[in-house]
Parts: sequence; structure tokens; C-alpha cells
Amino acid sequence: MERMTKTIALLPGDGIGPEVIFAAASLLEDCGTEFGHRFELVEFPLGGAAIDRCGTPLPPETLEGCLAADAILLGAVGGPRWDALPLDKRPESALLGLRKKLDLYANLRPICLHESLSTISPLKLERTRKIDFEIVRELAGGLYFGTHRMESENGVERAFDDITYSTAEVERVARFAFARAEARSKRLTSVDKANILATSVLWRKTVERLAADYPEVSVQHLYVDNAAMQLVLAPEQFDVILTSNMFGDILSDGAAALTGSIGLIPSMSWGFGPPLFEPIHGSAPTLVGQDRACPIGAILCTSMMLRQAFGLSAEAEWIESAVDHVLARGYRTPDIADVNSSVVGCSEFVALVRAEMQASVKQQEPYGWGV
Ligand code: NAD
Repeated sequence: MERMTKTIALLPGDGIGPEVIFAAASLLEDCGTEFGHRFELVEFPLGGAAIDRCGTPLPPETLEGCLAADAILLGAVGGPRWDALPLDKRPESALLGLRKKLDLYANLRPICLHESLSTISPLKLERTRKIDFEIVRELAGGLYFGTHRMESENGVERAFDDITYSTAEVERVARFAFARAEARSKRLTSVDKANILATSVLWRKTVERLAADYPEVSVQHLYVDNAAMQLVLAPEQFDVILTSNMFGDILSDGAAALTGSIGLIPSMSWGFGPPLFEPIHGSAPTLVGQDRACPIGAILCTSMMLRQAFGLSAEAEWIESAVDHVLARGYRTPDIADVNSSVVGCSEFVALVRAEMQASVKQQEPYGWGV
């Protein structure tokens, strides 16, 4: 078994970010101890916390720390305390800055309904109708990286947000999505608004051209309004969804809700710099300090990191199966609880997962993991 040494930049951020990130980090430490890896966790400020400490949402030492790391684990940023700041000074601008500086252009969001949570999906699925697909969201271009400005003339206010995409920007994220589809059930759904937007016409044309390079992958195109409807009507039809920055942002929150809670979903941002892992939820200001946040999205970020960034599948499975076992035993944070659940806080849920991991180690011995 290969022992690894990896540096992981921890960016807890604001709101419930620190709560879920320190919980997730404790599992990484358990993993290091159990499998003999050395995970060096180095913390840096980001977002509102960085504004308060350093006067800027993305301080140079945070950027340098991220660039030097093997992977990054980020919580969430933002909160009412900083909402009055201009857009380019707000905590959220740090996310865009980080994505740009690290050249992270593809964001992967696995949308998977845990078997033991099927009763809390708002869709009331029969157990056999599986929700298991991935959303690949373009992350470094499109509307969120356009120019945003407001002007006022004769008392009339007007606002502008520019959206641009180049062929190369579409191509690199599309190739990422085609590769994901090739490794899964070989079905790719590209979502755009090609009946209205010029950027979407280019998007569709580029995806159609690339399809010739991936003959095993079947491609369908959906307009974003239809895609939103299909996600609710028949989510089991999807395997990999490829879409632009804004459409992906919106569709993935809706898709996450199908699985029970936005708190359940991890994500990976991939590109030329170190990969970044973050739960898809925000800083949830109303949950801060109450020990009510669901840590599963952040926990699954660690297993995603172990598998996708470091190639450590057995370690990833160790964490994931412990989460599944704890859910199957009926323990839930309030957002995913039903009448039969034992409701626990974030800290107790994490303690249960860690205990489950240790219990499963005892069952595995003397053979060990990864055999
Ligand atoms: P949010 O994701 O913080 O919250 C949306 C809803 O989901 C709320 O009801 C919240 O209580 C709930 N929720 C979120 N995470 C949860 C968890 N782990 N467990 C249980 N419930 C959870 O989104 P919002 O309310 O639109 O935004 C709040 C702040 O977060 C804003 O400042 C926003 O800009 C910021 N934000 C940051 C990110 C990020 O850092 N990547 C993403 C989205 C929003």
C-alpha cells in the first residue's frame, strides 16, 4: 500500500463553513492515521473572515497557499455582515478570484440519492427509481465573469451584465464532461438556451463537433427551461449534464434538493491548478452557532478528494460507507430528518461517522484496507 504525503489547504470561510470543514478535516486525519498517509492541513482565511482579518476577501497568502497545495478544501463564504460592500469587495468575489487564478474551469457535482434518504426526496420516488447523475458546470467564464455595471441617467437606473464564451472555453469543459460520461453510462445531456442566446449557439455547435471524438457517448441537447422541468419529472434519465456557469449554478441547487438537502452534495473544481473541493451549499447564516448544519456535503468532499485527486479509492470508500451506515441507522441532522429519525447535531453526526469508521476497521483486520 502506497503511503502518501499531501498538503491540503483548508479554507473554512464564513458562517457554517468552519463547522463543516473542521468536521471533514477530522476524517482526513483519521484516514491519514489509519492508512499511513501524511496529510498536512494548512488553514488560510477566505471571504468575510479574510476581510475582517486582512482587509481583502482573497489575501495573497491564501492564494499562494492554495497554489502550493496538492488540493484545497473550502467551506463557504458570505453573510449579512458583508452584504453592504460593493460587489467586487464582497466575500463571494474571493470564490471567483480563486477559480480564475487557479484556472479551475470545470465544476463536478454528483447528484445521488442515498437509499436511506429516498423517503425525504420531495419527489416521493419509488425506491427503484434511482437519482444518480453528475452535473458538469463551466466555472471560469460566462455571465459570472462578464462585466457588471450600473448607470443612472435622468433618475433612471440601468444595469448591465455581459456574457461571453469562446470556443476554447466551451471545448475544455465539454471534453471534461465527455470523459465523465465515457466512464459512466455514456449519456451526455448538454443544457443551453440556443433558441435565444448567441453564447448558447456557440456552446451547442462546439458540443456537436466534439461528439465525433466520443463515438460511444450519446448526446442530447436540452434548453435550460426544459432541463429544469425534466429534472423534476424524470431525473433518472440523466447520466452527465453539461452546462454553463449560471445554468449550472441554478440547476444544481434544484437537483440537490431532489436528494433531500443542499447540505448533502460535494463538488470538485478541476482545471490547471490544484483541484478544489467544496460542498455546494453557502454559508447558511441562520444556522451559525446552532450545531444544526449538515456536514455530509463537506465530508463527501474529502472522499471525492481522496479518490479523484489522490487516487485513494479504498480510503474514499471507508468514509462513504461509514456515512451510509450512520444514515441507515436513522441518524440525521434536522434538514434531512423524518418522523422515524434520531435527530442529531452536526458534531454528533460527525462523531458517529468517525466511530463507524473505527468499528469497520476492527471488522476488516487483520487484512486491512485496499486488499
Ligand atoms: P445557502 O446555501 O447558505 O442556504 C440555502 C438554504 O439551505 C438555507 O435554508 C440554509 O439554511 C440551508 N442550508 C445550506 N447549507 C446547509 C447545510 N449544510 N445543512 C443544512 N441546511 C443547509 O444559500 P443562501 O441562503 O442563498 O446564501 C447564504 C450566504 O451564502 C450568502 O452570503 C451567499 O452569497 C453565500 N453563498 C456562498 C456560496 C459559497 O461559498 N460557495 C454558495 C452559495 C451562497
